[in-house]
Amino acid sequence: MSKFVHLHLHTEYSLLDGAARIDKLVKILKEREAPACAITDHGNMYGTVKFFEKCKANGIKPIIGTEFYVADNYKDKTGKFDYAHITILAKNDEGYKNLCKLNSIAWIDGFYYKPRIDYNLLREHSKGLICLSGCLRGDVQQLLLQGFDEEAEKMAITLRDMFDKGDFYIEVMDHGLSEQKQILDKQFKLAEKIGVKTVATNDVHYLYQEDAEVQDIMMCISMGKTIDDPDRMRMQCNEFYLKTEEEMRQIFSAHQEAIDNTLEVAEKCNFEFDFKSSF
Ligand SMILES: [Zn+2]
Ligand SMILES: [Zn+2]
Repeated sequence: MSKFVHLHLHTEYSLLDGAARIDKLVKILKEREAPACAITDHGNMYGTVKFFEKCKANGIKPIIGTEFYVADNYKDKTGKFDYAHITILAKNDEGYKNLCKLNSIAWIDGFYYKPRIDYNLLREHSKGLICLSGCLRGDVQQLLLQGFDEEAEKMAITLRDMFDKGDFYIEVMDHGLSEQKQILDKQFKLAEKIGVKTVATNDVHYLYQEDAEVQDIMMCISMGKTIDDPDRMRMQCNEFYLKTEEEMRQIFSAHQEAIDNTLEVAEKCNFEFDFKSSF
């Protein structure tokens, strides 16, 4: 049994921002004896039922989550539209209901370029949820990157106190990007200072390294750009694939706890769809 769980993963349902097809994904996870896997599509939960059923049928524990877009005020539909990211996972029934509520509010009331929530809304619906601090676009990471270490600490404490004890984790990623290298040390120190654990993710957008090109083309389609447009947004590297436990352990060789903690998170997440009573 593998001792690493992917807790941040985009499937084909991250509309034009994820190329990991659920059927193939589950097949690979089974081959690798993954005990569990999360689905955290961007601002939607379209893929959850299919993902849940496929995982269950193959003896893998499915973890349902969302990578949310966070605005200062989700009702404010003016101004900038580069939102913070945050990774949220459901622990139980209550958490799943909150996840659904947050998603529906994000679409119905919070939509402005993207479906958005804000931290107050998240606080109101935080029961039963686990929070990971997110990718480089997460507020804790952005503040660290900009050198606002005190503000980053305050932000992390706010998030820590928003969820049940021990259910907020500093999410660490290393795709070899210089911005990540700049903050990784700070992230580990911050976690220790405020008494929270770290968890390693790979922000999976596709299954194999060579699929990076497909991802790139999909991003062009979604933004209406062509492949040779020099100004277009693109993934900065080809490391966002479904890495193995060995690969992840090697990347975080000095911080094996961040790998081990993925199992702890997976053990806490026990939400199950009850198809008999819900349909
Ligand atoms: Zn992100
Ligand atoms: Zn992501």
